[in-house]
Amino acid sequence: ARNKPLDNDARLSDIAKSTPGFSGADLATLMNEAALLAIRRNKESISQQELSDAVDRVILGPERRQIISEKERNITAYHEGGHALIAKLLAPKTNPIRKVTIIPRGLTGGATWTMPAEDIHYQEKSRLLADLTMMMGGRAAEMLIFNEESSGARGDFSSATNLARKMICEYGMSDKLGKAIFAQGSEFLDIRFEQLNCSEETKRLIDLEIKRILDESYECAASLLKVNKIQLDAIAKALLEKETLTGQEVDEIMRNINAPN
Ligand code: ZN
Repeated sequence: ARNKPLDNDARLSDIAKSTPGFSGADLATLMNEAALLAIRRNKESISQQELSDAVDRVILGPERRQIISEKERNITAYHEGGHALIAKLLAPKTNPIRKVTIIPRGLTGGATWTMPAEDIHYQEKSRLLADLTMMMGGRAAEMLIFNEESSGARGDFSSATNLARKMICEYGMSDKLGKAIFAQGSEFLDIRFEQLNCSEETKRLIDLEIKRILDESYECAASLLKVNKIQLDAIAKALLEKETLTGQEVDEIMRNINAPN
């Protein structure tokens, strides 16, 4: 930020909090992005708004303004609403919501973006299970409301399967497989290459355990949403109206339902 004109309202400490794990180069990209936004908006200096928008752009990709049918908007609103509601219901096991949006960005049709309140180095099983349940919340909401599956949950299922596999094969969190490591992985450009050094029988057991954990997380998400459908409706409605909600706004919506007056 040194050679960039910052507005008085710019709070670099807030930006630091919302970018855990960013390298120096990532932060430089973010500051350049914020400067470009300020220029495009004919501003003399970079304000908090440009900084915050730059964080969104760097993490989620640029907004894709395109024509979306009412039907698709509706599906996305319930899908993201499902993620957001479960994140709230399972807090503090889940990370606080930073934003939930139905504006398409990068490769996604919408996003529910959570952020750890502090740097986390150890993952507890109960937190990982809460994460899995939250990931399943998108599809579970679509099924509850439209009784129809869409391709919008592809990314969720991919992340959930990877996480479940890690829990079983690397973190020793399955009673059936026990406290052993079944994967020797290496990571390259975010793609994980795994070598399973185990018997066919064990591989089959791993697949069954992954399926069990994912099925249970889905069931948990589905029943939570069913019981709290009024909240889900309210969050989806607010998303259709405002397109983007902060975690605090989701809190307010839920509070108003719990105490209508
Ligand atoms: Zn999703």
